Amino acid sequence: MRFVGAKIFTDLCFWQPCSAAFLVFLSLAGLATTARSLTMPASKRTLALFDVDGTLTPARLEITPEMKAFLKELRETITIGVVGGSDFVKQQEQLGSDSLDMFDFSFAENGLVAYKDRELIAKASFAKKIGEDELQKLINWVLAYLSKITLPIKRGTFIEFRTGMLNISPIGRNCARDERNDFEEYDLKNGIRKDMVSAMQKEFAHLDLTFSIGGQISFDVFPKGWDKTYCLQFIDRSQFDAVHFFGDKTFEGGNDYEIFTDESVEGHAVTAPEDTKAQCTELFLS
Ligand SMILES: [Mg+2]
Repeated sequence: MRFVGAKIFTDLCFWQPCSAAFLVFLSLAGLATTARSLTMPASKRTLALFDVDGTLTPARLEITPEMKAFLKELRETITIGVVGGSDFVKQQEQLGSDSLDMFDFSFAENGLVAYKDRELIAKASFAKKIGEDELQKLINWVLAYLSKITLPIKRGTFIEFRTGMLNISPIGRNCARDERNDFEEYDLKNGIRKDMVSAMQKEFAHLDLTFSIGGQISFDVFPKGWDKTYCLQFIDRSQFDAVHFFGDKTFEGGNDYEIFTDESVEGHAVTAPEDTKAQCTELFLS
């Protein structure tokens, strides 16, 4: 018994200094790594991707000349890109008609429309992806469903066909502003969009679609995975040490959530364009 006790004592005496030394080694290695990533200068091998609305511009408004000047300055040091959910026309309305000159990468509709160095490099379409047969079944089903529900009012344009998605509005997209507000309230109480989405999910389960209820009067339908992570396939990772993303809707259900949480991307949540500028200055220019 005494022998075993002595053996354990000897073992402890031997291993404790060893493990302490190992821990010190680990801490030093960790410190060295941290120090290296902190001191590693930002360069063209750093890519920063930006959301548009709420990140580069105030919500639904145009970019300010100050923000434009800042991006120009930033681009002297690192590589930059934009990834917005809207189509390319809307993106240019917000960022300016010279938007392609401002970024190394420009992604509209989450990258379904992709430009690199001003050149269009890819264009995907919802219609091509699911095929004309399924698309028509989907459209016919939506029209039949809407013909059977009665709302306080209905207007026109119930389906908007976009490159990467269908946008479906039970009241119709060309309703007036006050009609839009009224529908939103009515929908909250009566779950018009929620019920329609549930019915579509059941009916079209085989198409592997994502349904996203956004805004006041409509919801989007698009293939799974066609969120902002879609644009990452156009980035040659051998050319970059780090890919950063800045966005304002990074919470679950927000349209920046998937790319923000992607493990190959360093995500940054921002509150407004001023915050984007402040975070970028700290990270890349100081
Ligand atoms: Mg946004």
